[in-house]
Amino acid sequence: MRNPRGTKGVTPVMTMSAYENALRQFGAAVEVLGLTANQVAMIKDPRKVIHVNLPVRMDDGSIQVFEAFRVQHSVARGPAKGGIRFHQDVSLDEVKALAFWMTMKCAVVNVPFGGGKGGVVVDPSTLSLGELERLSRRYFAELAADLGPDQDIPAPDVNTNPQIMAWFMDTYSMRERKYIPGVVTGKPLEVGGSLGRVQATAQGMVYTLEEAAKHLKMDLNGASVAIQGFGNAGSNSARLLAPKGARVVAVSDVTGAYRNDKGIDVETALEWVASHKGRLEGFDDAGHAEKMDDPMELLELDVDILIPAALENQITQRNAGAVKARIIAECANGPVTPEADELLNERGAFIIPDILCNAGGVTVSYLEWVQNRTGYYWTEERVLSDLDRNMREAFRDVLQASLDHEVPMRVAAFIVAIERVTRTAEARGLYA
Ligand code: NAD
Repeated sequence: MRNPRGTKGVTPVMTMSAYENALRQFGAAVEVLGLTANQVAMIKDPRKVIHVNLPVRMDDGSIQVFEAFRVQHSVARGPAKGGIRFHQDVSLDEVKALAFWMTMKCAVVNVPFGGGKGGVVVDPSTLSLGELERLSRRYFAELAADLGPDQDIPAPDVNTNPQIMAWFMDTYSMRERKYIPGVVTGKPLEVGGSLGRVQATAQGMVYTLEEAAKHLKMDLNGASVAIQGFGNAGSNSARLLAPKGARVVAVSDVTGAYRNDKGIDVETALEWVASHKGRLEGFDDAGHAEKMDDPMELLELDVDILIPAALENQITQRNAGAVKARIIAECANGPVTPEADELLNERGAFIIPDILCNAGGVTVSYLEWVQNRTGYYWTEERVLSDLDRNMREAFRDVLQASLDHEVPMRVAAFIVAIERVTRTAEARGLYA
């Protein structure tokens, strides 16, 4: 047990660790599938856990040491794949959970990767650009032996971006003395990135949301939406939903939650963050919205669609009873704890689980990796058309499993994923 991130105005509650939550989700699906102990033993635990301390020279000449992790949960279906997070609250527990979810996510959308995740314990807003670059390069140099286009392929996550991916790629390529763009995805276009990657996570969410709305006979045109987190996943979700006629009534980020019941002008919000260091701070003073006293209340608004797009453990048994949204589209990883999940399911909320909902990012990362390896670069139209097909197919597979086994969408997503990983692990067998 540990204390989750406290949010301003909220008394932190004790909750289970993210990894314990992940194992409970795994256990629920294993029970439905009736896997044997041997099958579970082949796929459950992380294959490799790397824990390093990174010395970095700061601008003032001092040396600061940063704790960092990389977890390779599975390489059964292909190289490990997953982002790297820079955050002051990163822990090994969290990285293990995120790596496990990546294995499941890649299997749900059927891309040929295993699962991995990395993290550095740092608040990057306290670093200068030079310090951020030296820390990023040191992380990659330290882990280089375990990374590679056929071993483990990182990508962006919270507080890491395409520029950092470019530094990663350059560090690895210089070390290997050759151009190896396929070692990392989410890169800028200039260094082998893919068209469509920036909005891929949100775009994938929108495809699954459209399928969910169709299933529930709900119209996205006119539907009200609240979005927690306004970074890559959250802001692009708003950008893509507005033209569909959805009314975004609240958005939030680390500076607070901003509400406008008539609908927030999404273009104005996007321009605001672009010109205010990526933050919504001051959006209320400029008269575009009202700042909510307690940012966590955004999750409890009476909206049709709630999109958690920030961090894990946001909807817990403490606030789940007050969540009113009909659809919860999990752009973030692990935003709902297992206890909250039960409460939401009892109420009949339709949850598009993270390992399905936000898998658009890794799907386009896979397409980026394919383009890097063939050296042939696709149009955005082709990328988005593949993403569209993949996400809708995955949604239908999960919905079918949910109907067949009479289980919620989350358990169904794990069932689809675990069946795929188990089949591959058994076909490969044990090497030695
Ligand atoms: P990001 O760093 O671009 O944005 C994170 C956003 O969350 C920022 O706006 C930040 O201010 C906000 N935030 C942080 N703490 C908050 C809090 N307590 N309350 C409200 N907002 C808060 O990160 P991102 O890439 O958009 O990732 C967001 C989530 O989506 C993470 O869970 C990540 O694992 C998941 N995800 C991202 C991708 C991707 O391709 N970027 C893919 C899959 C899943």
